[in-house]
Amino acid sequence: MAKNQYRLTFCSGAETVTGADFLLEGPLDASGRPLVRILVDCGLVQGEKLATEANWEPFAYDPKEIDYLFITHAHIDHIGRIPKLVYDGFHGKIFATPPTCDLAHPMLTDTAMILSRDVDNKLDKVYAENIVVQATSNWTAIEYEKPYDLMPGITVTLHNAGHILGSAYVEFNLGGTRLVFSGDLGNSPSPILPDTTPLVGADYLLTESVYGDRQHEARDMRRDMLKEVLIENQQKGGTLIIPAFSLERTQEIVFEINELLEHKLISKMPIYLDSPLAIEVTDIYRKYADYFNDEIKRHIARGEDPFIFPGLVETPSAEDSKAILHKPDPKVIIAGSGMSSGGRVVHHEQNYLSDPKNTLLLIGYQSVGTMGRLLEEGAKTVTINHASIPVKATIRKISGYSGHKDSDALVEFISGSAKTLKKVYTVMGEPKSTLFLAQKIRNELGLKAEAPAGGKSIVIECGE
Ligand SMILES: [Zn+2]
Repeated sequence: MAKNQYRLTFCSGAETVTGADFLLEGPLDASGRPLVRILVDCGLVQGEKLATEANWEPFAYDPKEIDYLFITHAHIDHIGRIPKLVYDGFHGKIFATPPTCDLAHPMLTDTAMILSRDVDNKLDKVYAENIVVQATSNWTAIEYEKPYDLMPGITVTLHNAGHILGSAYVEFNLGGTRLVFSGDLGNSPSPILPDTTPLVGADYLLTESVYGDRQHEARDMRRDMLKEVLIENQQKGGTLIIPAFSLERTQEIVFEINELLEHKLISKMPIYLDSPLAIEVTDIYRKYADYFNDEIKRHIARGEDPFIFPGLVETPSAEDSKAILHKPDPKVIIAGSGMSSGGRVVHHEQNYLSDPKNTLLLIGYQSVGTMGRLLEEGAKTVTINHASIPVKATIRKISGYSGHKDSDALVEFISGSAKTLKKVYTVMGEPKSTLFLAQKIRNELGLKAEAPAGGKSIVIECGE
């Protein structure tokens, strides 16, 4: 087959963790015009707030000209700008795994609701209900490992990324040259998902690098550490707050507590699942038993619901949520958002952080500028709803529940294609993390690796 050129642009999501948005154009004709334009992810840029000002800017491309959009997974930093894409005239086709197709609507509806409360929000029209419905309708579902012929010379395969339910890394076979977009890569083994599918035969790779410069503590210790924190809270007679993202982290923690109770390693206490979104998402998880790992499938085969146990109380309404304050201790509250940058967890933090008998347990990545990051770094006071709150509660952290591969695991994943990779691009990380990972890949695997600047375009020669 003749050689073809494709242009790859790191529109957003380079030199930063959030806002994944990559454009693949090709094959290019003599004047550099592409036959098709394909986007991979269209995520919200997040920071101190759920959505930063950057999201209101025009896209780096004309949405009307995009033919296809592939979504790696349903986290908002990968799907959050689809309503704007649609509002700005996109009318191409959207592809994702079946669970991602189902999860997109509740995730985007929740984001729309939070943004509509923001008085500075300039996107109220963009996140109108009809636009969100349009943005999440008629997606084409592709199962893992089922190659999809997009057009002559372009075949796409989704592989299990092991990050959240339905998460995929996307492989484009461009006339024999394989270009892979990692999306987010899971910290396998996950409590509930199968391990990430090994990377085989890739020629070019864009890899996430959230933990490109850090290691997680041993994963086999995480359940014991969670047990310790739960027992400690019970002994202190306090309230344990676990900020958790509604998608995946919450289901993992609920399943882990279920396991600890079932093995009688902790005693029963009230555990409030205080998130309407998490409750809705958990219902979608129940539809996809085939996507779980063998351990959780065994529970389901015995007729058990892995996400229900004695003591678990769901509090969908705002009144139920507020009433938790008057419930006796010891108790546990699981609420979003995972970085305490919004959501119900914030009012619980306002109520509970000033009392030393309470504990806040961080189980995920805390982005720069978020309240979670301030607490992680030992802030003595924080400002919540204009009130200054002294932080007297114990702050605990378990990094083993992170949803992302650590530095060594990323290199191990990439090593699966060490013989074929021509170049690796490290993206979706803070700059020091993307640079560190690129260096580590060069040193340990002897591969070409680069941390590209945001907005950069490169041309790839494809075909045999
Ligand atoms: Zn993610």
